[in-house]
Amino acid sequence: MSSALRKEYLAALGLETWTLRGPATAASEPVAAPFDESAPVVAAAPREAARRDNVAPGDAAAPREAAYDWLQLRERVAACTRCGLSATRTQTVFGVGNLQAEWLVVGEAPGAEEDRQGEPFVGRAGQLLNAMLRAIGLAREQVYIANVLKCRPPQNRDPMASETMECLPFLDRQIALLKPRIMLVVGRIAAQNLLRTDAKLGALRQQVHSFGASGVPLVVTYHPAYLLRSPAEKRKAWEDLKFAREVFARG
Ligand code: URA
Repeated sequence: MSSALRKEYLAALGLETWTLRGPATAASEPVAAPFDESAPVVAAAPREAARRDNVAPGDAAAPREAAYDWLQLRERVAACTRCGLSATRTQTVFGVGNLQAEWLVVGEAPGAEEDRQGEPFVGRAGQLLNAMLRAIGLAREQVYIANVLKCRPPQNRDPMASETMECLPFLDRQIALLKPRIMLVVGRIAAQNLLRTDAKLGALRQQVHSFGASGVPLVVTYHPAYLLRSPAEKRKAWEDLKFAREVFARG
């Protein structure tokens, strides 16, 4: 995308931009973007119609999931009772987006609105996520969006280890079916679970991680819900998004 077009996107989203001063490498490149969650929501694309046994995320999915196609996987998730969250959910939240997407965005778990609508990132955090994606030239319908957990934890509490252990094979299979060229992981919980680390988010961002046996490049940034609470951090998130875009462009 040309920087003029990107500026137009940012302006349309009500995003303030700054340009580099002095001998900048790309003088017209915005260097910070306080994303605006009140930006218009891009319509979502139509939805695409094993226990873990110490299998690391990204390793071959357990046999029960490994053979599923998208439809079978969606049905299996919808019927899942592997953990207690099945008793409190309104519905499962499988994932949404383009099945040919090169970008996979991974969040933590559905919130109240996602639990109600059955689609990830449709609440305020979702609006901000859409604005973040638009800022790097991606429409929501171009990417695929999924969560580590497919069910909402009550009161949006952090996922329990047992819940993520049961649920991660579903995400692993989604990744195997999608074959993304890059994963953008938002938030500490998703990043720690996918990278099997206790490291803080600040230590994980601005690096290219490699996910699973297929070595999908994985970039970490702040969760949009956190950015809503801490808008000063949007500048760092913008750096991460530009970094992810570079990693993707490098191939
Ligand atoms: N937060 C997430 O991590 N995922 C969603 O789907 C919504 C909010």
